[in-house]
Amino acid sequence: MRPMRRIRVTVWNEFLHERQDPRIAEIYPDGMHSVIASYLRSQGFETRTATLSEPEHGLTQDVLSNTDVLVWWGHMAHDRVDDGVVERVYRRIVNEGMGLIALHSAHLSKVFRRLMGTPCNVKWREAGERERIWVVGGGHPIAEGLGDYFEIEHEEMYGEPFEIPQPDELVFISWFKGGEVFRSGCCFHRGLGKVFYFRPGHETYPTYYDSNVLRVIGNAVKWCAPVERPRPVHGNVKPLEPL
Ligand code: ZN
Repeated sequence: MRPMRRIRVTVWNEFLHERQDPRIAEIYPDGMHSVIASYLRSQGFETRTATLSEPEHGLTQDVLSNTDVLVWWGHMAHDRVDDGVVERVYRRIVNEGMGLIALHSAHLSKVFRRLMGTPCNVKWREAGERERIWVVGGGHPIAEGLGDYFEIEHEEMYGEPFEIPQPDELVFISWFKGGEVFRSGCCFHRGLGKVFYFRPGHETYPTYYDSNVLRVIGNAVKWCAPVERPRPVHGNVKPLEPL
């Protein structure tokens, strides 16, 4: 039997807020991607990071070919992500089964919207209110180790209607102190790839140090990882039994 290969993760971040706003730099001096990546490393995943300012945004064909799961955080620079790179990421997901974890404001990233085929707009409010994240997919591997719910004391609010297609599986629904609710943990299958959208992670709060949030991202990496299978064959075929 072949030994199990470690899951290879690339954590991508536009890495602009942390360099432009000293209050955010104080929370994430090396960027949100570094905090997420060091947690994933501690969980045994082979983890690297990539950012917008690197050549090809750090997502060369070689990097993507050696990535099983891509984690994506973007906000102010969605439009600055090169369309060729988006296409490469999209193909690697749909045709080759790379997983994607889209975090927080990545709901408006080019690649997530392309995968969804819908505008993906939300309601939002920045008031630092409490978010209670309810587990509604109790048996789902992404909810492993969580109770009925967990809370984040201060977060940005995202509210319904969230303009996404009906998720294939819904794992979390968030409630916010101001009254709104939101589908905050959504699974999608796109071609051979699996996509998980996870809502928390506004840049002005220390959300990516929260143990429940990190646990969800780690669980999602395992769920999103590609399954070993032969390449699918399409087109005209001979019958398996004599006709
Ligand atoms: Zn935000």
